[in-house]
Amino acid sequence: MQGIDLSTVRNIGIAAHIDAGKTTTTERILFYTGRKHKLGETHEGAATMDWMEQERERGITITSAATTCFWGDCLINIIDTPGHVDFTVEVERSMRVLDGAVSVFCAVGGVEPQSETVWRQADKYGVPRIAFVNKMDRVGADFSAVVAQMRKRLGAKAVPIQIPIGVEDGFSGMVDLVNRKAIIYDDTLGTEFHTADIPPQLEEEAEIARLEMLEMLADYDDEMMELYLEGSEIPVEMIKRVIRKATIGLDIVPVLCGSAFKNKGVQPLLDAVVAYLPSPLDMPHIVAVDPDDTSNEIEVKAAANEPFAALAFKIMVDPFVGRLAFCRIYSGHIESGMSVYNPNTRRSERVGRILRMHANKREEMDGAQAGLIVAIPGLKQVRTGDTLCDEKRPVLLENLTFPEPVISLS
Ligand code: GDP
Repeated sequence: MQGIDLSTVRNIGIAAHIDAGKTTTTERILFYTGRKHKLGETHEGAATMDWMEQERERGITITSAATTCFWGDCLINIIDTPGHVDFTVEVERSMRVLDGAVSVFCAVGGVEPQSETVWRQADKYGVPRIAFVNKMDRVGADFSAVVAQMRKRLGAKAVPIQIPIGVEDGFSGMVDLVNRKAIIYDDTLGTEFHTADIPPQLEEEAEIARLEMLEMLADYDDEMMELYLEGSEIPVEMIKRVIRKATIGLDIVPVLCGSAFKNKGVQPLLDAVVAYLPSPLDMPHIVAVDPDDTSNEIEVKAAANEPFAALAFKIMVDPFVGRLAFCRIYSGHIESGMSVYNPNTRRSERVGRILRMHANKREEMDGAQAGLIVAIPGLKQVRTGDTLCDEKRPVLLENLTFPEPVISLS
C-alpha cells in the first residue's frame, strides 16, 4: 500500500455555539477546497452560490461524519462535531477522534454559555485550537471584545494573529500580523482577495497588535525572547514555528477574524489550519487496554507497520452505500479484503470496500494507514464506540487516554 506523508494531514473539528456560523464556515471551506473542480464552469461568484445551494439541498455537510478535502498539499478531514447542547456526548466522542479544532465565535454574541461547554471539552481532551471570530460584517461586531471574553471567561491565552480592517458594512479584510500584510476582499474580485500594504490609518494599531503578539509568543521560545528583548527583527518563519509549537502545546489559541457569509477570511483560516494545527504525527501514542484484562495497558503507536487498531466513532446510513462505519485509524493499516476483529462482539468481520467521503463524491480506496479517517460500508455488527483491531493483538480503545502531546517542529 502506498503511504501518505502524515505531516500533511489535518484531522479537525469545527466547534461552535449554535448560530455562530459553523455550518456556513464549513460550507465555505468545502467550497474553497473544492473550487479547483469548479473553475471555468461559471463566473466564480455565481458558481459559489450555485454550488452551495446544491450542497445545502443534498445536505452533505450535515450528513457526513467526516469529509475529506484538500488545501494546497494538505489533506484535511473535517469531522462533524454537533453544536447543539443535546449533542454534548457526541461532541465529546468526536473530540477524541480529531487532532485539532477551529472554534467559531460570533463577533456580536462572543463567548456564550455553550461555547464554554464545548471549550471545556476540548480542554479536557487536550485538543489544540484556533479561533475564528465570524460575522465581522454584523452590526455590533467587536473583535477585541470577543478576544477579551475568550481570555476572561475561557481562561484562554488568546493571541490575535490578525486584526480586522473595517467593521460591520465596512468590513473589508484583515491585517495579517505575522506577514505584516493586508488581506483585502474587494467585491469586484468575487470570493477572492488580494494582498497589499497595511492601510496607513491602521499602521499604528497593527504595529501595537503585532508587538503584543510577539511579546506573548516570546514566552514560549528562548531564541525569540532574545530577539524580542534586543528589539531585533524576528523572522516570519520563526514566528510561524513558535505559533505552531505553542498552539499544539495548548499554551495559546491564535485568533483570526472574518465573515464566512460574505466570503471573507476563509482562505486565511485554511492556511492557519495547515500552518498551526497538529498533524497525526504531532499526537502522542495512545494507551489502550487488553480486552481480557483492562488493567493491562497497551501502547498503540501511530505507525503503518504496527498491528491494526481503529475506533468506529460514528455509524451512519448513507443513501447510496447503506450503513457506514466512520473510523479513525490509530495504528497499522487497513486494506480491502482484510478481516477486522471487534473485541466487544468477539467476532471478526471482513472489510469489503474502504471509502473516503468528499463533499460531492465518495472515493474508493485500496487501503489506509494510521492517522487517517475512513468510512467502511457493510460492517453489520459494529456500533459507535467499538474498536476494530488485529485479532492477533486485541485492544480496546474506548477509554482513550492521551498523554501530553508530542511536538514536532518540522
Ligand atoms: P451554526 O448554527 O453555527 O451552524 O450557524 P449557521 O452557519 O447556520 O449560521 C447561522 C445564521 O447566521 C445563518 O442565518 C447564517 O446565514 C448567518 N451567518 C453565518 N455567518 C455569517 C456571517 O459571517 N455574517 C452574517 N451577517 N451572518 C452570518
